[in-house]
Amino acid sequence: MPIPRHKSVPGTGFVVDGFRACASCKEATTFFLTHAHGDHYDGLSERWDRPFYCSTITGQLVVRKLGVKHELLRHIDPDDEDPVTVDGVRVRAICANHCPGAVQFLFEVVESGETRRYIHSGDMRWNKSMMENEALRCFRKEKTRILFLDTTYCNPKHKFPDQTASIDYVVKTIEDRERDTSRGRALYVFTSYNIGKERIFLAVHRATGKKLYAPPDKVAHLSLCGIDELTGALTEDPRTNLHLAKWGAVGETWPYFQPNWSNVEELRARHGAEEVIAFVCTGWAYDGKAEFSTRSRAGLGTIHLVPYSEHSSFTELLEYVAYIKPEEVVPTVNVKDTQKMLKHFTGLTDESSAKRRFLAQFSGGKLASERKKQKKGVEVGAKGGEGLEGAKVASELLEGQQELM
Ligand SMILES: [Zn+2]
Repeated sequence: MPIPRHKSVPGTGFVVDGFRACASCKEATTFFLTHAHGDHYDGLSERWDRPFYCSTITGQLVVRKLGVKHELLRHIDPDDEDPVTVDGVRVRAICANHCPGAVQFLFEVVESGETRRYIHSGDMRWNKSMMENEALRCFRKEKTRILFLDTTYCNPKHKFPDQTASIDYVVKTIEDRERDTSRGRALYVFTSYNIGKERIFLAVHRATGKKLYAPPDKVAHLSLCGIDELTGALTEDPRTNLHLAKWGAVGETWPYFQPNWSNVEELRARHGAEEVIAFVCTGWAYDGKAEFSTRSRAGLGTIHLVPYSEHSSFTELLEYVAYIKPEEVVPTVNVKDTQKMLKHFTGLTDESSAKRRFLAQFSGGKLASERKKQKKGVEVGAKGGEGLEGAKVASELLEGQQELM
């Protein structure tokens, strides 16, 4: 079985986030893990016996969570001074603005004397500050062949606010409620996966000066994230009224949010509060109308749906592609909708470069099958009319970044 394209690095046997999918791929030589979320480390376990590359924090998390053997870890970190050379390929890691330890991998593959650049974003949230990253600027300047992109929210309907707006909303909601002493004690509940949303926890801790309760296992896990301030903000003492709870503790989020009021009541009663104020923070919380929405039940409390996302919004995806201007984008999430998603990037990729390379191949003696593959890519990129939004974002972005070019 070949390595699926969206997990591959062309010209190598590298596999990114494909432990289960590629464990038995003959071509697979080296494995990379972008971050410690289950859908990316799937297949890793205490039985895994091949070395793999990841950040130091991600390594600590998977060793603790999955029992992965420590001696298999090979570290590549965003603050490494030099790239790591793996099988002759230069590899760098840069921050993905996702969960602690999450990185994007930048590969420089030398083939026939030519350097070919590939970016695997892993899960990521684009942030304009990334334009200041030296390695990324180099990948923009020197041309990137393929941007393997986290397309979780690659649909124009996903236009949630930036992370700061969501954090401010959560903090203000808590501050306002704390001032209102007439309503008795509130229990604030934050649902999250095993890691993620740490910036919200920290902001709440800073604003209130209070510690956040989490079960011992979660405290131990979060303590490996390398955020000292967060480690100091956590407690295993449930008497604080700020509680971290597992995802789904106050309701299901998929396919739309459905509150679980009996769980809310159980939390309220167990911790002696007059009401529960819960925060469900995810890009899926955005309902297309109100940026922030709530569900309330008299006597129990309120659940706030906060579109705080650690994945790029649709507009941010366009901005990232416009910034890198790769020859091609390969979606890594919702891959069955690849053709539909690629239309959004029309005008943002470097089609002329891809086309030049394609035409050059006619005289370069490439295999017919390779030419066919390349042709397909050009045709997809050349379809017009449906990428107008992308082109608009590109021109706006480029206007705003003259100094960074
Ligand atoms: Zn993730």
